[in-house]
Amino acid sequence: MKENIVIAIDGPAGAGKSTTAKAVAARLNIRYLDTGAMYRAVAYVAVTENRLGDPEALALSFESRTLEFTGQNPQRLVLDGKDISSEIRTPEISELASQLSAHSPIRKEMVRRQQAMIAEGGVILEGRDATTVIAPQADIKIYMTASLEERAKRRTVEYQDRGTAGDFGAVRAEILQRDHRDITREDSPLQVADSAVIIETGGKSVDEVVDEIVRLAE
Ligand code: C5P
Repeated sequence: MKENIVIAIDGPAGAGKSTTAKAVAARLNIRYLDTGAMYRAVAYVAVTENRLGDPEALALSFESRTLEFTGQNPQRLVLDGKDISSEIRTPEISELASQLSAHSPIRKEMVRRQQAMIAEGGVILEGRDATTVIAPQADIKIYMTASLEERAKRRTVEYQDRGTAGDFGAVRAEILQRDHRDITREDSPLQVADSAVIIETGGKSVDEVVDEIVRLAE
């Protein structure tokens, strides 16, 4: 395998991108970059600092903040020295991250950071614009997807495991709305990149999907 390999994955909410990417990172001994967590950090600041009204000022405020991933298994997200890994995993933050990520000044600041984080290679990143904007030159580009029912089922279980309210109907509606926003936004909409491999994860185990990507990498 190429030592400084870059593997980029995009796809709708709940397709299994992060579970798969984490497992591939461990198998190939490369880094994992969760780009969605960074939009969640933006939403966290918007809520805790009451900065909901002005996305441009919010984006600007990130120029002087530190936002770092630390540790492996589990990886933590640290904002200005504070571990916010758990706080960013609520349905409220999911919704707000989805809304805020449509704003260009916020995307520009996040993409700048993400491109710096992957510059050395040896990394697998996942999100909504990983294959199209952050790393269009990636060695492997994947579009991972599954039916809405399947994705909503997985997300419901994830929320329940974390002890957050996880009603299937509500989660299904949340996913549907977030996907719609990601696909229809003007700046960097979610789409299948040129030369992306499409992986349909419905009915497949995590191991099967991981094996498929590891084979591509090797
Ligand atoms: O992947 P995750 O669900 O954690 O991402 C939270 C939100 O951030 C998504 O709903 C999406 O709108 C946005 N996002 C994005 N671009 C990325 C990653 C996430 O717009 N690269």
